[in-house]
Amino acid sequence: MEQREILAFAGGDFSRLIPGFAASGVRPEVLAPGVLRLFATAARPAGSLLLSVGVHGDETAPIALLAEILTELAIDGHGLAVELLVVVANLPAIAAGKRFLHTDLNRLFPPEGKQAGDEGERARELCGLVEHFFGVARGRRLHLDLHSTIRPSLFPCFAIIPHEPAAPEARLLCAWMDHAELPALVFSQGGTRTFSAFSARACAAAAATLELGTREVLGHNRLAPLATVASALRRMLREGLLPPPTEARAQRFRAVREIVRRNRDFALNLPPDAPNFSTFSRGERIASDGMEHYFAQEDGERILFPNADVALGARAGVMIVPFTGAALVSRD
Ligand SMILES: [Zn+2]
Repeated sequence: MEQREILAFAGGDFSRLIPGFAASGVRPEVLAPGVLRLFATAARPAGSLLLSVGVHGDETAPIALLAEILTELAIDGHGLAVELLVVVANLPAIAAGKRFLHTDLNRLFPPEGKQAGDEGERARELCGLVEHFFGVARGRRLHLDLHSTIRPSLFPCFAIIPHEPAAPEARLLCAWMDHAELPALVFSQGGTRTFSAFSARACAAAAATLELGTREVLGHNRLAPLATVASALRRMLREGLLPPPTEARAQRFRAVREIVRRNRDFALNLPPDAPNFSTFSRGERIASDGMEHYFAQEDGERILFPNADVALGARAGVMIVPFTGAALVSRD
């Protein structure tokens, strides 16, 4: 795929894709900048799927991956088995090659009150479009929000599944993850304001944030490591939403607490380049925050998204532990 096609898609310009869709019988409609609705060609659509990329503007591999998948879909003539909404989320941040311009968009679903800057307005717009898309949906609703991590990970691809008791079909979603050969799934704690948590909470969608590789320069992405995820996404678009449950392959984890930086005098007990999923043994110090210290409470506790350099009051890491519980989503 040509670099300029990826860059056009990353800028929310779908004009190169639209003629191909029209020719292959898939009706396209641009709903807003960076928001493309594609109507199913199947007589009985398998459900409604939201695929979002670029919520963080510097996480580029998923943008290139989705551009490639949609380009293939537009020219292969196999049609579309699902109602599809494509969102290239934070266009100004993508253009600037930054995570965000004013506020982290992935903490704004929904925005609270009058949120300053572009991101608050964009979050409000996306919430409305997504609520409408899922509001008229028949059958299954699914949202995959595609990201990349800042630092390398011991599991190069993994999913974060928001703990939202209202969200159905988490088991089927996990089955898809197993088909996609994602090596790790993390069940997050409730109450977050990420894009996928919003779809789960407000739209009763089965939703997940997928972390696919690490940050790269847009247009110079290595998509080969994402091949199994890409083929699972292609199958989803052509054949339907979710395959039957399979033997659980991915390692499962659940988030147990966040490390929040409260003091200027803050340090993580990790090398600066330590990967995601770095492990602590019981009693080992995880972080020092002023006079307070965090210690691992059990063997095999791991850290996700470690970052000692965050603002005061912000999250400096998420602690996770292996999860073997039968119930994937608590309904109490
Ligand atoms: Zn991200």
